[in-house]
Amino acid sequence: MTTRSRVNHTSQRTRIHRNQQKTRDKHNGLNLLAEPDPATIKILASSLLSWYKDNHRDLPWRRNRKAYSIWISEVMLQQTTVAAVIPYYEKFMACFPSVKDLAQAQLDEVYEQWAGLGYYSRARNLHKSAQILAKKGFPKMAADLQELPGFGPYTSRAVSSIAFDEPVGVLDGNVIRVLCRVLGWSVAWWKTAERACLQKAADQLAQQGPSHLLNQGLMELGATVCTPASPNCLLCPWSARCEARKQDQITGLPLKKPRKSLEVWVWTPQILMKNSKVALVKNDYAPFLKGQMIFPGSVQKQSKRPKTYDLKHGITHHDIYIQVQKPLQFRDSHKKTRDKFKDKGYQWVQLQGLKKINPSNVLQKILQHFLA
Ligand code: SF4
Repeated sequence: MTTRSRVNHTSQRTRIHRNQQKTRDKHNGLNLLAEPDPATIKILASSLLSWYKDNHRDLPWRRNRKAYSIWISEVMLQQTTVAAVIPYYEKFMACFPSVKDLAQAQLDEVYEQWAGLGYYSRARNLHKSAQILAKKGFPKMAADLQELPGFGPYTSRAVSSIAFDEPVGVLDGNVIRVLCRVLGWSVAWWKTAERACLQKAADQLAQQGPSHLLNQGLMELGATVCTPASPNCLLCPWSARCEARKQDQITGLPLKKPRKSLEVWVWTPQILMKNSKVALVKNDYAPFLKGQMIFPGSVQKQSKRPKTYDLKHGITHHDIYIQVQKPLQFRDSHKKTRDKFKDKGYQWVQLQGLKKINPSNVLQKILQHFLA
């Protein structure tokens, strides 16, 4: 880069920074951003549409625009890559080809098809929502979809725009990255006000219609061209208008979200056996595996790792140190244990069936530790 172009880049960067600062000051310190101008949005939308028509991948959930297929694929894609999702998606759809099939299935069958994807609360919510949707049909608007279990703003907007062409934008990690770069927005996108500005920009784009193509185009651009570490700007339909590229700021955008600090928890589960069955309770005492059936017990938050523990397991930002008590045999005839454990809302589960009730492997790890 020549000295002159370096000077130009620096003054351009300073100008953009000053404009962003002015907007912040105008809004009492809130980091709000000026809307992109309509002419720019129009040009971005039209180049994105032509690019998507020629460059999109042939993916199983793109072969029709059924709300059910889009919903299932979007939920699966929240946790892993397209390549990893395809076999899970095909297996799941072969087992539950319609929302009615999913609604009529037992929850443990759904868990079985979901196994390997993690985040079992998502499978549970799919099952709950399917039961509502099978009776009432799919609402066509994101605002109505969002009332259903497990439908957040992203999934609702993806389904309503791709299946029904509602002109609303989608905002996930890929889209945030592309928008921050193309608009040159150096903002804390994880905060509510800044996120609302990004959502508005995505909405403006989708309103240029057809939103099912524009939203998929934006997702596709983020997944295949404007990737986190090595964007291929030469293949990008937006390269001539991209502010991050003009300012040589690509690797710095989007800003990095500060990491949630790890929490240390000591979990003392009690393994209570009755013949070949083990007791589970609905988890209302631990901040991890929330709402799931787990062993009864207690948890304690600590400032550092304990000196002694039997097992360690990590779930999201929870570092769990497990101290397992010796398994107890529950006997109805034994007055002392009967009085101690009666009326605790236990569900007695066959050891072999435990994985169907709670597929998280931490329960298996605990059992194996003592029963192997
Ligand atoms: S030009 Fe490069 S950085 Fe800008 S949007 Fe396209 S791929 Fe991303």
